[in-house]
Amino acid sequence: MEYRELGKTGLKVSTIGLGCEHLDGKPYTQIEETINAALENNINILDVFMPGKEIRENIAKALGARRNKVIIQGHIGSTDIRQQYDISRDLPTVRRYFEDILRIFGGFIDLGMMFFIDSEEDYKNVFETDFVKYVEHLKKQGYIGHIGFSSHNPAMAIKVINTGLPEMLLFSINPAFDMLPSEEYIMDHLEKGFDPELFRGIDPKRAELYKLCTQKQIGITVMKTLGGGKLISPKHTPFAKPLTVAQCIHYALSRPAVASVMLGCQTPGEILKAIRYFELDASEKDYAEILGTMRNDFIGNCVYCGHCQPCPAGIDIATVNKYLDIARLDSAHIPPSIRSHYLSLAHSGSDCIECGNCEKRCPFGVPIIKNMAEAERLLGKNN
Ligand code: SF4
Ligand code: SF4
Repeated sequence: MEYRELGKTGLKVSTIGLGCEHLDGKPYTQIEETINAALENNINILDVFMPGKEIRENIAKALGARRNKVIIQGHIGSTDIRQQYDISRDLPTVRRYFEDILRIFGGFIDLGMMFFIDSEEDYKNVFETDFVKYVEHLKKQGYIGHIGFSSHNPAMAIKVINTGLPEMLLFSINPAFDMLPSEEYIMDHLEKGFDPELFRGIDPKRAELYKLCTQKQIGITVMKTLGGGKLISPKHTPFAKPLTVAQCIHYALSRPAVASVMLGCQTPGEILKAIRYFELDASEKDYAEILGTMRNDFIGNCVYCGHCQPCPAGIDIATVNKYLDIARLDSAHIPPSIRSHYLSLAHSGSDCIECGNCEKRCPFGVPIIKNMAEAERLLGKNN
């Protein structure tokens, strides 16, 4: 297992986490076996968005004395009024459900998530009401360790981050969502299927969100990594062929600021399959070929795929490009953390010998030699 720091929360989370959604309604023995498999394979972050009492209690029971070994992502405003999953901003209702999850998980939730902020209306109902005061109260009183939120809309996520309140974000990330114009409501595409005609390279709003998260140290956990299963399905994939689970995980983990991918495993076998990601070599995780079927949409822009490796000078080209993209966002105010990450690389842009091998291999026509020089100019020691 690998671990990454979840932005400014400082928590070290496993890069593969467990989204417990698909355990809902399953027999207790299956829940217990799946949770055991997750912990035995060193997964240490669990998403529990489900409002149902039984599933929450079954997860807590399966964890038992190991509760303190895991980070629980619990959601504020997730309810199941009239047996239906729902979003509530009605404070008495919100409190009732959140107090229930607190009681079940030992009086403390590590990541208190403001649930589902996708629209202007959601934003108003959270930030212009007592909802936000309740969230701040939970943090102040130590009932939650950190404030986070979930969203599927990059423009709204940017707005929430700019309030300065949240420390992390649960966001839906996969190559198909990243290529949809940000005005599209992605839940419609999950239901009806993707329309590749709409794809136009990485949507600028999403790229802006990833860069903002890196700048402000907002750690991202990821949902919908497989696009509701559509990206790995030969019938529903919007690309020339389906992606593999490993390619989807690798894509999400390659986005700036991403710390963990929450996978909706529902059996021990599915956990083991997901964990196999760490045994695969780079070619088995490489997603460039599939995105490359749409290469005109990406031309000149690095998608951090690593297809250009190996570099004889030992440069991790995708990582240098990632820091460069963040530095370009506002080159007059480059975050010190980005410069120090760049300077701590074993090999940086200044090591480039301009052999050009990488540029021949890059399916997206990225001017790598030029980028290495620019990275050194903006981020190198002589700044
Ligand atoms: S430079 Fe090209 S091949 Fe290398 S990581 Fe970026 S997009 Fe992929
Ligand atoms: S051109 Fe520079 S970055 Fe590319 S492979 Fe050669 S040394 Fe590495």
